[in-house]
Amino acid sequence: MDAITHKGDADPPDNGMEQAGTDIARALSQRLRALRAERAWSLQRAAEACGVSKAMLGQIERGESSPTVALLWRIAAGFGCALSDLLPPHGGGPAEIRDPRRVRARPASDAILVAPLFAFDPALAFEVFELTLLPGYERVSEPHVPGVVEHVVVQRGSLEVLSDGAWVRLEAGEGLRLAGDREHGYRNAGARPAVFLDLIHYPRGRGVRAS
Ligand code: MN
Repeated sequence: MDAITHKGDADPPDNGMEQAGTDIARALSQRLRALRAERAWSLQRAAEACGVSKAMLGQIERGESSPTVALLWRIAAGFGCALSDLLPPHGGGPAEIRDPRRVRARPASDAILVAPLFAFDPALAFEVFELTLLPGYERVSEPHVPGVVEHVVVQRGSLEVLSDGAWVRLEAGEGLRLAGDREHGYRNAGARPAVFLDLIHYPRGRGVRAS
């Protein structure tokens, strides 16, 4: 994994990130095997559901390849699970302290760091991530399952969000709620990392399985 250099007002480099990246690959490998087994899906069937090649899915399942965040989303949609269902599990009750510096990781070579703060809970129907876009990162996301709503709140730097066909610029402290079931996107046109929280609500009773 590449070393991450933080500039400006971002947190200092984090020695735990490399370990977290390894944990992500291992957890993902185990989760994919479990999800396929639950559904009794062949690798071919799973690859078709996720819209990825059988070879790529096999590599990810064997821990030989790190998927981009975009690919993680496609896999989550294909299996009908939440994004955090594919990340390392964490326990904890209602009063749980989560330190993003301990869970922030770069899942692949794309310029985004992901910190799963609160995993998806079927009773609550949402998950919370801290996302860090490094300078120059831009991604237009495919729609998530119907009914997904994202709540974005910028913490540091500035962020541009594609919502309803227009890019909206958000500064630290500002927030935006957007329909995750339509085309949407994120980009960082600035020189500093853009750090934001993303609370992702999933529709109850459909789209996402309790797993
Ligand atoms: Mn999204």
